[in-house]
Amino acid sequence: MDAAPGLSKTGPQHGPPAASPACIETDALVVGAGPVGLFQVFQLGLQDIRCHVVDTLPQPGGQCIELYPDKPIYDIPAVPLCTGRELVDRLLQQIHPFGVDLHLNQEVTELQRLSDGRYRVQTSAGRDFCCRTVFIAGGTGSFQPRRVKLPGIDRFERSQLFYSDAGPDQVAGRDLVVMGGADAAVATALQHARPGPARARSVTLVHRREQLAASVEQLEELQSLCEQQAMRFLVGQAQGFEEHAATLVALNVADTQGTVHRLPLDLLHVRQGLSPRLGPIAQWGLQLHHTQVVVDTAQFQTSLPGVFAVGDLCSYPGKRALILSGFHEATLAAFGAASLLRGGAEVPLLYTTSSSQLQRLLGVKPAPRV
Ligand code: FAD
Repeated sequence: MDAAPGLSKTGPQHGPPAASPACIETDALVVGAGPVGLFQVFQLGLQDIRCHVVDTLPQPGGQCIELYPDKPIYDIPAVPLCTGRELVDRLLQQIHPFGVDLHLNQEVTELQRLSDGRYRVQTSAGRDFCCRTVFIAGGTGSFQPRRVKLPGIDRFERSQLFYSDAGPDQVAGRDLVVMGGADAAVATALQHARPGPARARSVTLVHRREQLAASVEQLEELQSLCEQQAMRFLVGQAQGFEEHAATLVALNVADTQGTVHRLPLDLLHVRQGLSPRLGPIAQWGLQLHHTQVVVDTAQFQTSLPGVFAVGDLCSYPGKRALILSGFHEATLAAFGAASLLRGGAEVPLLYTTSSSQLQRLLGVKPAPRV
């Protein structure tokens, strides 16, 4: 079988690539562990299709966890009210019977069609999957940390500049500057300012506005630690940095009056939130409509056979970026994949209320004795 256009890495004279011996073989791979990716796992489970799931973030839940974990959602069918976090907890509970493998903290970077029609999918952490079907549930894209916009500072990343947690032992006894104004930034600053083994020599929290989007408890602790001079909160914007002998030594921050403060530092922790980026998905040779993947509405299959797209990322006439719509899309995509994996056979509609086959898959009915 020919490689899909633009996907072969070996070029036309060599033909499409073959599977690498180290790859994880699976019938299905889900890209994205947001609410729709998680429900995709459930629907695949009902079709007796085991899958692996990959997400860039360190925890499942997508936008529900990253953007509104404690806000109420009122429009999930038969759930009058739940928070983003509660919805994700319930979805995780629902997929539990299927024993899914979650691969977190890594972005899916490559998708290639193999000579046998399967797909080879690679992640930024070096994981390699060979799968018969792929479900892209990437939402608005993979979430990436908002970066410090100071030219040249990137070269200190992972030695002194961190966008995710550096171990507490790395911070203890050192001068720390934390940038950001939401609860993640405040939590990092508090963790290293309060007494304990992770306490830094000095902690300065820098945010461009006086208002911090943190809990009342966090704000009270911050005020108390500032009063005890265990840390400092500076309202201002980073303007530049200083280095000495290839080491980052200070951050210069202009306050609201324009006065520049020199903050000596050993470590700079940036917690300015996350922003979505379609990223590598745009390079996989899929038909796109703006930044979304075009699908059919019978199976939610993309322009590549065996590759489905569901949730906020997919595009079709009338698409609404609602969780409820994503659940419907995931259901039909699972039926589509089941038919494909069974050589085009008709997939019967079974009800969880009455089908002993589904109840066995869900683990609520014992397997028959043989
Ligand atoms: P997402 O939740 O965006 O999850 C996608 C996941 O894919 C992310 O975790 C991302 O990291 C991952 N990903 C992307 N690309 C890659 C890659 N290459 N490799 C690995 N991982 C990748 N909807 C409602 O129905 N009701 C509401 O009340 C509601 N309230 C909302 C409130 C706010 C403030 C916001 C922002 C949205 C709200 N929504 C609501 C919309 C709802 O959150 C989205 O429709 C839903 O999250 C879409 O789910 P998803 O799984 O498609 O995508």
